[in-house]
Amino acid sequence: MQLLNGKEVAAFHRERVERRLADIQEELHIQPELAIILVGEDAPSAMYAKSMQKTARSVGLKAEIYQEPASISEVELLSLMDRLNEQASVFGILPMMPLPRHLNSQRIIDCIDPKKDVDGLTDVNIAHLYTGRPGFVPCTPRAVIAILDYYHISLSGKDVAIIGRSNVVGKPLAQLCLNCNATVTHCHTRTKDLKAVCRRADLVIAAAGKAGLVTGDMIKPGAVVIDVGINRVDGKTVGDVVFDEVAAQAGAVTPVPGGVGAVTTMMVLENVVCGIARTETIL
Ligand code: NAD
Repeated sequence: MQLLNGKEVAAFHRERVERRLADIQEELHIQPELAIILVGEDAPSAMYAKSMQKTARSVGLKAEIYQEPASISEVELLSLMDRLNEQASVFGILPMMPLPRHLNSQRIIDCIDPKKDVDGLTDVNIAHLYTGRPGFVPCTPRAVIAILDYYHISLSGKDVAIIGRSNVVGKPLAQLCLNCNATVTHCHTRTKDLKAVCRRADLVIAAAGKAGLVTGDMIKPGAVVIDVGINRVDGKTVGDVVFDEVAAQAGAVTPVPGGVGAVTTMMVLENVVCGIARTETIL
């Protein structure tokens, strides 16, 4: 069984990001900024924002957290977004989700300039992903593909089972797998026989946010398993996969922590750098 080490994949991409950023700074004489928008006190969002800022700064990218009170009105938040859209030094805008309930997330997303939408959330970038045109691809699905690429695991002709159909993870992931010529079965809470679907798959990608969902008996011997899930159980961070059981069956598996999550942050930065250079995303 091969452990698919997200930290190693992230280190590989870090080097590319640093190199590109240095080239851009030399050529264009700019100090590009990633704007991270954090509204309220949601602890996981605050942690993610801080870690994103730290990693961005460590590769030489300016990263500012715009911390706004939970009581901010939609008009005020939209006006901040407008300012960042207009600000030439800002090349990426990343709103932390979830937003407080009185704010309409979709309206906030809709107002991000698609050219600064580094997590591929806007309709324009989603449409580009679906029609195969260049654009920003959501970072977690990109991280999954980056791991597979790094380990030379081809998707072409493979049966892939994806568990989870959210707009930010499951759905774009299914499209990316399809773009890589996989045969995709998309599973969710209403899927009748999840075990049977997974058991047929050459690659199982779990993105449900349910600890213990994927057990060893759901995995075909030798299959690849990517665990996107992040759950807190008894003070520990675990994925959706029962790691020891699945590792005994699988040919390769990502750990949690140290798997997809480790690569996701780097994908955001890679998107920022690609956006500055106006190049296609490095996939
Ligand atoms: P979500 O709650 O929006 O969507 C979960 C999806 O899983 C839904 O479509 C639901 O139908 C499906 N699902 C839930 N329980 C299921 C079950 N028992 N059987 C079959 N399908 C089931 O979550 P999300 O934002 O897509 O995130 C999914 C997981 O990935 C979460 O644990 C989240 O924390 C994690 N995540 C990780 C990263 C990373 O970088 N590693 C990034 C984003 C999200």
